[in-house]
Amino acid sequence: MTEATHPFDPPAHEHRWIEIVTELAKGFAATAADFDDTAELPIANLRALHATGLDRATLPAEFGGEGLSYRAYGEIVRILSAACSSTACIWVMHIGAAVGLVQLSAPEVGRFYAGELIDGKRFANALSEPSSGNMFLMPQQVAEPVDGGFRLTGAKRFVSGCEAADHFLVNALVDGAPTFFGVAPDDTMTFVPIWDTMGLRASRSQLVSFEGTVLREDRRCPPSTERRPNHIGAGLAFLSLGIADAAEDALITHSRNRVIPMTGQSLAEMQWLQFEVADVHTRLDAARMYARNMAWLADQNSPEFMSATMTAKVLANDVARDVAQLALKAGGGSGFLRASPIQRLFRDAQAGGLMAYSAEVCKDRIGKTVLLPQD
Ligand SMILES: Cc1cc2nc3c(=O)[nH]c(=O)nc-3n(C[C@H](O)[C@H](O)[C@H](O)COP(=O)(O)OP(=O)(O)OC[C@H]3O[C@@H](n4cnc5c(N)ncnc54)[C@H](O)[C@@H]3O)c2cc1C
Repeated sequence: MTEATHPFDPPAHEHRWIEIVTELAKGFAATAADFDDTAELPIANLRALHATGLDRATLPAEFGGEGLSYRAYGEIVRILSAACSSTACIWVMHIGAAVGLVQLSAPEVGRFYAGELIDGKRFANALSEPSSGNMFLMPQQVAEPVDGGFRLTGAKRFVSGCEAADHFLVNALVDGAPTFFGVAPDDTMTFVPIWDTMGLRASRSQLVSFEGTVLREDRRCPPSTERRPNHIGAGLAFLSLGIADAAEDALITHSRNRVIPMTGQSLAEMQWLQFEVADVHTRLDAARMYARNMAWLADQNSPEFMSATMTAKVLANDVARDVAQLALKAGGGSGFLRASPIQRLFRDAQAGGLMAYSAEVCKDRIGKTVLLPQD
C-alpha cells in the first residue's frame, strides 16, 4: 500500500529543502542568543541560506527559480524561526520584497531583480510609515514628479535588514494612488538606528529616511492586474509558530528536569502544568494546521488566501505569546535569567502580534466580516 500524503504537506520533490534548512538551523540556534545579545545582523546565516540555492528556488520558474510551494516556504520559515527568529524575520522580508519586485515589475525589470536575487543581492521592504503604522499598503507620503521619476522625502519605519539591503520595495502616493517602486540605496537614504528593542533584536528593523530620493520611473511597478499570494502575508504566521515551537520545547525541557523539593516530583508531573500545557499545545496544533491550510490556499492561488492570512496570523500570534508566557511561568526564576532561552523567546513572541497587520487589525476585519452584512 502506498503511504498517503497530506495535501498540506510540501510536494515530495521539495522535501530536500526542508532537510537542508533543518540542518542549517542547528547552527543558527547555537548563535541565536548571541545575536539577541549583540543585536548584530545575522548576515552569515542569511548568506548561508542563499548559498544553498534556496533564495533562487522561491522564484517562479519563468524567472529562473523552482516556484517553491508556499507549503514548503511556510515550513522553512517555521524551522528558521524556531532556531533564530531574527534570521527568519529578515529572510521573510527579503524573499517578500525580492519575489514581490520580480512579480510586480514590468517583465524585463522583473528579470533584472530575479538575477539580482540569484546573485546574492539582498532585499528589504520599506513600506510602513511612522504616521500610517499598520496601514502599510496605504502610504500617506507623496512622491512628487521630477525628471526620470518621482521625488520622495519622508521616512519608512521598522525596515528589517535594511542596512544590508541592495534593493528596497518602497511605496508612495503617486497621483493619489499607492504605487510600488524598486529603489537602490544612494546617499539620499540614511538608516536611523532606532532598533533597540525588547525582541527580534537582530532583525535590525531601523528607520529609513529619504531626503529627496528619486524613485525611478523605469523601476515603477505597473498597477497589479493579477491576484497572487505574497510571501510576507504567508510567512508571518509561521514566524510566530516557530517561536511557539521553541518556547514549547524550552518549557518541556525545563519541566522534565526541574524537581520540586517539597514533592519530589518533576514539574512535568504536576497536574496544574499538564492542564495548562494541554491548553496551549492543542491551540498550537490547531494554529499550525490552520497555517498549513493557508499555505495550501496560497498554492492554489485561492481568493480565500487573504482572509486566511489574517486568521492564521491571529491564531499564531496569540498562541506564541501564550506558550512563551506559560514557559516563563514554569521556568520560574530560572526562566527569568538572561542565560535562559525562555526569556528571549518570551520577548521575541511579542513581535508577531505587533507586525502588520497587527492582531487587533486582523481581529477587527474578522469581527466585521462575521457580524456585519457583506455586500
Ligand atoms: C519586528 C518587526 C519587523 C518589521 N519589519 C518591517 C519591514 O521589514 N518593513 C516594513 O515596512 N515594516 C516592518 N515592520 C512594521 C510593521 O509591519 C507595522 O507596520 C508596524 O509595526 C506598526 O507599528 P506602529 O507603531 O505604527 O503601530 P500602530 O499601527 O500605530 O498600532 C498601534 C496599536 O493600534 C492598533 N491599531 C492600529 N491600526 C488599527 C486599526 N485600523 N484597527 C484596530 N487597531 C489598530 C494596533 O493593533 C496596535 O495595538 C516591522 C515591525 C516589527 C515589529
